[in-house]
Amino acid sequence: MAPYAMRESARSLSDARPVSYWLDDPGKPVARPALTGDERCDLLVVGGGYSGLWTALIAKERDPGRDVVLIEGDEAGWAASGRNGGFCAASLTHGLANGLERWPDEIGKLEALGARNLDAIEETVTRHSIDCEFERTGEIDVATEPHQLDELREWHARTEELGLGGFEFLDRERMRGEVDSPTFLGGLLDRRGVAMLHPAKLVWGLKEVCLGLGVRIFEHTPGLELARSGAGTAVRTPYGRVFARDVALGTNIFPSLVKRVRPYTVPVYDYALMTEPLTADQLASVGWRNRQGLGDSANQFHYFRLSA
Ligand SMILES: Cc1cc2nc3c(=O)[nH]c(=O)nc-3n(C[C@H](O)[C@H](O)[C@H](O)COP(=O)(O)OP(=O)(O)OC[C@H]3O[C@@H](n4cnc5c(N)ncnc54)[C@H](O)[C@@H]3O)c2cc1C
Repeated sequence: MAPYAMRESARSLSDARPVSYWLDDPGKPVARPALTGDERCDLLVVGGGYSGLWTALIAKERDPGRDVVLIEGDEAGWAASGRNGGFCAASLTHGLANGLERWPDEIGKLEALGARNLDAIEETVTRHSIDCEFERTGEIDVATEPHQLDELREWHARTEELGLGGFEFLDRERMRGEVDSPTFLGGLLDRRGVAMLHPAKLVWGLKEVCLGLGVRIFEHTPGLELARSGAGTAVRTPYGRVFARDVALGTNIFPSLVKRVRPYTVPVYDYALMTEPLTADQLASVGWRNRQGLGDSANQFHYFRLSA
């Protein structure tokens, strides 16, 4: 970056606060008390992000009699689940292009499973009245370079060949009818495959639903060690152990309690920046009426959205 541009960006960030916008919210729930003493349960879930909470929720819904305990080392949602971009995508392959490239023979099935999964997420959010600003807006992959436009055209042709519905190619004029940026040369619109949501409200909502279903949640309770114990497993925490018939780990990029999993975990960094609220005039000048998520097609890509 040129020195002037660096000075400019440093200046424009000088008032920025290094906190997650989503987590810095008065609606943040109070943490549940830590575990003190030993506990027994049928299923122990380790980790209070989407993976752990959704596992606990489904386990309880499938068998309400199952005794489920969840332990979280910090506070539910403090990590990736509470601070992500809130793009809730059907794609199981981190985007259609990646899926087409790596699993061309199975892409139809992968897309169908992903669509079913997103429908099930929406259904759960609705059934439990989780207020997470869920909006099924879709997403547009935008081209800002001519070669990216050719790629989008190619991917669209592939979706047609494979009979994958829901994708539309937007030429420059139609793209600017959706979002009026002079840098956008065209786009590929996925109408149904992406929803926008408030990530922290989703994780807090899942926690509340789990508690309502009888999941026993202990926060500030890191699992330190996992070992066999009789026919089940014991997980040691600073102030007590949990004996469980089954254990589910939802610990994402943190060092796994199963050591042989650790070499397969690669943390990937990602940055999120929130602007100050746009004025009505600013918003109108961008013409972003349908609130879709947007992502550019660069290798180190940018993605952007509107908050509520
Ligand atoms: C800035 C950013 C933007 C992103 N944007 C998007 C996006 O727009 N769309 C999208 O789909 N994905 C996005 N992601 C990725 C997405 O947020 C994650 O894939 C997802 O939240 C992972 O959920 P998780 O429950 O598996 O893990 P996490 O949310 O990381 O939760 C794991 C939890 O386990 C706990 N834990 C770990 N070890 C232990 C232990 N030993 N004992 C007890 N607790 C433990 C941690 O404290 C943590 O709370 C983004 C991520 C980031 C960081």
